[in-house]
Amino acid sequence: AIAVEDIRKSFGAVEALKGVSLYVDEGEKVVVIGPSGSGKSVLIRCINGLEVPDAGTVVVEGMNLADRKVNARALARDVAMVFQSYNLYPHKTVLENVTLAPVKVLKVPREQAERDGLAYLERVGLESKVDKYPDELSGGQQQRVAIARALNMHPKIMLLDEPTSALDPEMVQEVLDVIKSLAETNMTIVMVTHEMGLAREAADKVVFMENGLVVDEGTPRYLFDETDNARVKSFLSKIL
Ligand code: ATP
Ligand code: MG
Repeated sequence: AIAVEDIRKSFGAVEALKGVSLYVDEGEKVVVIGPSGSGKSVLIRCINGLEVPDAGTVVVEGMNLADRKVNARALARDVAMVFQSYNLYPHKTVLENVTLAPVKVLKVPREQAERDGLAYLERVGLESKVDKYPDELSGGQQQRVAIARALNMHPKIMLLDEPTSALDPEMVQEVLDVIKSLAETNMTIVMVTHEMGLAREAADKVVFMENGLVVDEGTPRYLFDETDNARVKSFLSKIL
C-alpha cells in the first residue's frame, strides 16, 4: 500500500507539487492523468524515492521514505518502475537485462533469476528474443522487456510513467495488452498514462492532476462520465 500525504516539491521557483495526497490500497490500480507539467512524474518519482519531497510524508509498504533507516534496497525490493524510455542496457542481452537487477540488488541466485526471467519474458511474448540485444528489438518489444525486467524484481508495487507514449502507434497495443494483464494480478499499480481506454478498463481509481494539485479523483466512470469539474472535462475533451 502507498500513503502519500500532503507532499510538496519545488525546483527553484517551480512548485511541482503543492500539497498532494494519494492513497493506494494493496492491489489497487490507480491511473494518474493531467496536463503536461502538472506534476504526475514528480509524484510517481516521490513514491520510489527518486525525488525527495520538501514537505509531507510518503509511506510505501509501511516504510516512511523520510526515515533514514529505510534503505534503498528495501524499497527496490517492493517497488519497480517502468519509464517512458525503456532504459535497457544496450550491451546486455534481453535475458541479461531481465536478470541483472534481481541478482545484483536482491541477491537472487542467478539460476533462479534466469528461470523466473524466462517465465516473465514468455508472459510478455518474447521467449524467442532472449538472446537478442535491445537494438535488435522494436520499441514495443523493448518496452515489454522493460516490463519483464520490472516483474522479475517480484515487486509488490509497479509504477509506470507513460509506458506507451514513446512508442510508434502500431507498437502501443502490444504493450497495452501486457499492462492489462498486469492489472489482473494482485500487484499494486500506479500508472501515468494518456491511454484512456486502459484507464477505463484497468483502473480502480483515476486521479486528475493540474498545477501540482490533485483536482479530482474517483472511479473511471465518475471521472470520465459523471464529474462536473470543468477542468477535467476540458482536458478529456482534448485528448479523447
Ligand atoms: P508530462 O505530462 O509532460 O510528463 P508531468 O505532469 O509529468 O508532465 P512533471 O514532470 O511532474 O510533469 O513536472 C512538474 C513540474 O516540475 C514541471 O514544471 C517541470 O518542469 C518541473 N520539474 C520536474 N522535474 C524537474 C527537475 N528535475 N528540475 C526542475 N524542474 C523539474
Ligand atoms: Mg511526466
